[in-house]
Amino acid sequence: MSTIDEIKARIDIVDLVSEAGVKLRHAGKNYTGFCPFHDNKHTPAFVVWPETGTWRCFGSCNEGGDIFKFVMKKEGIDFKEAIQKLAARAGVEIKEYHKESPEQREAYDNLRKLLEDAVIFYRTHLFNNKEILNYLREKRGLTDSTIEGFGLGYAPTGYDNALKHFIKRGYRDQELMDAGLLSMREHDLRTYDRFRNRIMIPIRDELGRMTGFGARIVDPNDVPKFLNSPETPIFSKGRLLYGLDRARKPIRTTDQAVIVEGYLDVIALHQAGYENVVSPMGTALTEDQLRLLKKFTRRIVLALDPDTAGQKAVLRGLEAARSAMDKEGELGFDARGLLRNEARLQADLRVASMPDDLDPDEIVARDKDEWARLIENARPIVTHVMETLAAGQILNEPKIKNQIAAQVLPLIEDLPNPLERDTYRQALARMLRVDERVLMGTQARGPGVNVKRSSGISKSQARESAKVTVALSSTKAVEGYVIGVLFRKPELLYRLDRSLQELGLAPLDGHDFEYTDHKLLFGYIRESVEQDKSEHHDFVLEALPESLQGLSRELLTQTANKETLEDKLLEELLRAIIKLRRTVAGENLNQLHFLQEEAQQDGDSRASFYQDVVLQHTRLLRDLDQARRRMLQKRLE
Ligand SMILES: [Zn+2]
Repeated sequence: MSTIDEIKARIDIVDLVSEAGVKLRHAGKNYTGFCPFHDNKHTPAFVVWPETGTWRCFGSCNEGGDIFKFVMKKEGIDFKEAIQKLAARAGVEIKEYHKESPEQREAYDNLRKLLEDAVIFYRTHLFNNKEILNYLREKRGLTDSTIEGFGLGYAPTGYDNALKHFIKRGYRDQELMDAGLLSMREHDLRTYDRFRNRIMIPIRDELGRMTGFGARIVDPNDVPKFLNSPETPIFSKGRLLYGLDRARKPIRTTDQAVIVEGYLDVIALHQAGYENVVSPMGTALTEDQLRLLKKFTRRIVLALDPDTAGQKAVLRGLEAARSAMDKEGELGFDARGLLRNEARLQADLRVASMPDDLDPDEIVARDKDEWARLIENARPIVTHVMETLAAGQILNEPKIKNQIAAQVLPLIEDLPNPLERDTYRQALARMLRVDERVLMGTQARGPGVNVKRSSGISKSQARESAKVTVALSSTKAVEGYVIGVLFRKPELLYRLDRSLQELGLAPLDGHDFEYTDHKLLFGYIRESVEQDKSEHHDFVLEALPESLQGLSRELLTQTANKETLEDKLLEELLRAIIKLRRTVAGENLNQLHFLQEEAQQDGDSRASFYQDVVLQHTRLLRDLDQARRRMLQKRLE
């Protein structure tokens, strides 16, 4: 769920409007009151629809929207500020979106320059240290050109080698701290070298700019085995992939990216000629990292070490993931999280498992071609889970069958594509040698067969999701569909406007959308079309503020398998827009009749004003119906 939806789900519009000082009165399904935005003392012209979370003023404002629009208008703030305000009220955390200011950019450039200096410093120490150099050459099998190419270095033993060196070169303590090269003692705030007696691996972003270091132990007794730079403004572990600066081109050419777990695996594989390989920063793979890769390819293979965060974690993840996976962003090597991201990012994620307890660098050392075969044989995540669970088990035993089905079925049921679900269900049935209908029954009815589908959802979460379903009114879904399609094919907007005009209707406009986020997204789409920047939705997506990115991705996913024939799409869009306008006009008319009646009873002069608005809406409805008939006729011709 996007941040915006989460906020909407948690805030009741009736509460919000009431707290703003509007006295609301029940009127059928809705509430009415005096509009807080214009002077009015006679009859209430302000209507709130709790079901859709929207409001409208039928008085002189003649305007409406959702909770965001309400707060924006009431407090004179923009959308971003409204999100912050309402997020705080709802207790929803929002991720900040960073845009660099010129001063920041300069500071970051200085940091990078210092880090480049550090690369040279550590490299000099490496080439002066025979022992370490021999370790890399002989034990890790790296050639000198690989060592040079990846800029490997060595941080000498001792607490002030780097400190002295860089102070002498004119750097200040604080700069060295900011770059993550120094640490500070807590008791007397003295600074000292963060990296000591370690092999230094420079980490660059996808553009090749220095961001930090990964440092591996030389002395097997040292801990931790790998030590990274601390998080700095330019070194954010969850957003970087090691090796991407060198791998991006090969990833594009091979149309495939391979993710391994260690820096040294990346280096060894590149040396062996497999240059489309990257690794995360010793932490779980994040959605941001997958998104970064998706710029270059949608085909991604996870080459998992047999130990640690590898295969076992994939399976452990099945239980652990339920609770963890509701948090967005972070994803471990767990099947459920990976599958969700695969669907959300429309990627093709596969798993290659390493045989014989070997790490990737050991495999290429043993047999170069074996790596290519392993990657080629990578399997879809669900297949991988099924086979790993079944390996070494006696599949004739009903208890085992049940256990495996209980772990795999929830994954299958989560897949967004029904065809895929069927295929995997069949595969599982074949593997367990049971009738596929048994598996389907298991899921549908629950009792009968002993498969529990523990849903780690708490009561309050369940309540919230129930609320969300209410908010997901059909209007919202239709709006979302229109935006999603236009996101995919912004160039359709021109044809759409022309067709609307041919049908005697107004072109598509921000006012056609009740929901502020949809309204804003439409604004971005319209802008990008007009500026001719819309060859691909990624461009529009990148221009969006963070607060709208979650929603737009969701809408993109929802429209992923839509009709690709433009004429068909156009017709669907037209129908959707007519439906939207009809719904709104219909709702407004209902409400207006009610307001009109009240005004008449009170002898309010507004009665005649309402009469005019009623006429407008009636005319609009008539036009919409006419347009619909014209469309039908055209299809019959
Ligand atoms: Zn008003």
